[in-house]
Amino acid sequence: MDEKDEIYILDSSALIGGYNPNLTNAQHLIVPEVFEEVIDNRSRIILNLAVSNNLVKVREPTSASIRVASDAAKSTGDDFTLSSVDIHILALALDVKNENKNPILVTDDYSLQNAAKTLGIPFKTVIREGVKQRFHWVKYCVSCKKQYPTLYSEKVCEICGGDIKRRVSKKVN
Ligand SMILES: [Zn+2]
Repeated sequence: MDEKDEIYILDSSALIGGYNPNLTNAQHLIVPEVFEEVIDNRSRIILNLAVSNNLVKVREPTSASIRVASDAAKSTGDDFTLSSVDIHILALALDVKNENKNPILVTDDYSLQNAAKTLGIPFKTVIREGVKQRFHWVKYCVSCKKQYPTLYSEKVCEICGGDIKRRVSKKVN
């Protein structure tokens, strides 16, 4: 496979971990939900710049690949820790693979790495070896901003019925 057929697929943890597509000549893809998860200023500016430079393209995965990714996550027990955004990211990698290109997932999320392994999708991490994750997930209501535990599985807020979203946040050591 030609090196130029490699396509890097980014999750939010890659961007917040310091991965900067603007410093590469590579092609990158993200799913639209990554915009909702990347909230911190620096990562947001880098992402917007990369999108306007056409180094990052935004794409929805096919529903067929979403099914395959979701079945794989269930079979390994990773579906408990993977969000629907994670499943969409894996599905997008499968779509790229089905187009005979070479997807490489860039993520610091261990559950996502596990699921990628199961699906035969290569991945790389951003953080240095031996360094623990530098991010954590925060769940919150988009309407009243109430925060929820990361493993909270309801889709709507118990207070106001607003949508619950997830965002990635830098870990303070
Ligand atoms: Zn609420």
